[in-house]
Amino acid sequence: MTCDEFEAIVDDIPTEGSPLSAEAEGHLAGCPRCRMVLAVAQGVEHLLREPGPPAPAGFTAAVQRRVQRDRWRMEQIVDSLFNGVLGVGAVFVAVGLWLFVNSGRTAAFFQSVVDAMRREDWTTAATLPHVWAYVGCTLLVITAATMWWWMDREDAL
Ligand SMILES: [Zn+2]
Repeated sequence: MTCDEFEAIVDDIPTEGSPLSAEAEGHLAGCPRCRMVLAVAQGVEHLLREPGPPAPAGFTAAVQRRVQRDRWRMEQIVDSLFNGVLGVGAVFVAVGLWLFVNSGRTAAFFQSVVDAMRREDWTTAATLPHVWAYVGCTLLVITAATMWWWMDREDAL
């Protein structure tokens, strides 16, 4: 038997005093390294069988409190990040609305729509390109709101 062959079976030797094969006994008699490997394996096995010292009073409750506190902290961090991202998004929306309302092009667009309505002209070249831009923006906002609703629904599950 070689050292590698002995190491392959050493975990199958459960306890001290368990019978070894004659081949393994023969190898151990001439190999101090494998005797040490066997002694370590038996020592580990012995430690695993012994009941550990009893936990100090309140240990379980302290661990549960610590886990809950850590979980709560993590939720607070995630909530803070989420609120920060929402705040930045709200600033972007506010700035976008402000630019939209105060833009000369927006006023010109609405003026062109009003002029077209007065003329009862629904195909004027001045208004149609803008209409498609606003339809696209509206679809974008609807998409964003739908995604937000969907994400919120996934969190609630
Ligand atoms: Zn050996």
